[in-house]
Amino acid sequence: MTAPPSTSCDALVIGAGAAGLMCALTAGQRGLRVRVLDHANKVGKKILMSGGGRCNFTNTGTTPANYLSANPHFCKSALARYTPWHFIERVERHGIAYHEKELGQLFCDESSRQIVAMLLAECAAAGVEIRTHCAIERVEHTDAGRFRLHTAQGRFEAPALVVASGGLSIPSMGASGFGYELARQFGHAVLPTRAGLVPLALSGKHAERLHDLAGVALPVEARCNGMAFRNFLLVTHRGISGPAILQISNYWQPGDDLRLDLLPGQDADALLREWQQSRRDAELKTLLAEVLPKRFAQRLCAHWIASKPLRQYAPRELDGIAALLRDWPLVASGTEGYRTAEVTLGGVDTDGLSSRTMMSRHVPGLYFIGEVVDVTGWLGGYNFQWAWASGHAAGHALGG
Ligand SMILES: Cc1cc2nc3c(=O)[nH]c(=O)nc-3n(C[C@H](O)[C@H](O)[C@H](O)COP(=O)(O)OP(=O)(O)OC[C@H]3O[C@@H](n4cnc5c(N)ncnc54)[C@H](O)[C@@H]3O)c2cc1C
Repeated sequence: MTAPPSTSCDALVIGAGAAGLMCALTAGQRGLRVRVLDHANKVGKKILMSGGGRCNFTNTGTTPANYLSANPHFCKSALARYTPWHFIERVERHGIAYHEKELGQLFCDESSRQIVAMLLAECAAAGVEIRTHCAIERVEHTDAGRFRLHTAQGRFEAPALVVASGGLSIPSMGASGFGYELARQFGHAVLPTRAGLVPLALSGKHAERLHDLAGVALPVEARCNGMAFRNFLLVTHRGISGPAILQISNYWQPGDDLRLDLLPGQDADALLREWQQSRRDAELKTLLAEVLPKRFAQRLCAHWIASKPLRQYAPRELDGIAALLRDWPLVASGTEGYRTAEVTLGGVDTDGLSSRTMMSRHVPGLYFIGEVVDVTGWLGGYNFQWAWASGHAAGHALGG
């Protein structure tokens, strides 16, 4: 049996996610013939599930400081050339209503589906061909310097190949390590990967003492390795989650010291001293329940702080309690892993890529964009902004 004929185009894109679609429509609008291949049954699955179904599609406060990478300078060029305002202009042009939730985070008023529809409409208008259910079996680099893909739907060939296959988070949504394998095949280094923006698991005493408080939420400042995030913590059945914890999880690794300020923005010393003056006969656990969720305050006092009427505390005891409220040490045993992580930290080493075009320094015509690259954003729309910006950079460079 003869192999099916290979169909040619100007560029092949692996992955019809945020980065791949942005790259394809940008190149298509420049007149290139682009074909996008995805092994999943539909495109943009992570966009659809993002932001609780409303897609936090960008953050107006995006700067390179909101990203983690072995080379913190790498993301600068692409982010500067395709900003949140470029994407917002696109969203407005398509009549998609949106709102700011907090901290510059923009969400669709209605549905994430509108963002996918917008990208697909622009791809269609630019003549981009998108194929789903297209598992890629093998990638060859021909003597002529072209890329030949052997897939479940036959062979495809092009002088340029863009890898936009994403990271390892949420394998049930089609995530795969394919992009990393391809990078290694072409001589690129891949930095160790780990789950990011992920709930932390507790074990031992902390788990025993907190697990039945699942559902309790409180504002905290989470601190680790010189970073601090002020937002909510949520106690879960397995450990802790909530935006403050997801943010700090990017900076935490097993064994690292994790501290929580349980009264962020308040002076715990002053508060305790004020209570000792004005509420002398009240018990500490009663007063703490006025500034913390009641069950959490009670649990703190059952295991970490001896509660008694305020007048009975010596000044040094109050100092100790204030220090604990400001700097509560929490021992996490690990993360919940890729199953629930929003992103993958690490990935294709940026040393091997051009920060302007995302093209490989080793293999002309080969590009890596989006989450597969070692650039990871904070929670709050930064990861999509990186996908749009890196996709745009490559889409502009293709065929040049
Ligand atoms: C639950 C959840 C919520 C999130 N919410 C937000 C949010 O609100 N805001 C934000 O900024 N970020 C959010 N993120 C992160 C964001 O979704 C990702 O950073 C972003 O989707 C990365 O874009 P990408 O195009 O690089 O990869 P992806 O969007 O993951 O796309 C990769 C594509 O490649 C395909 N693919 C993978 N392997 C293969 C293969 N072997 N062959 C063919 N195709 C393949 C996949 O099917 C997929 O379609 C969220 C993530 C999750 C998991």
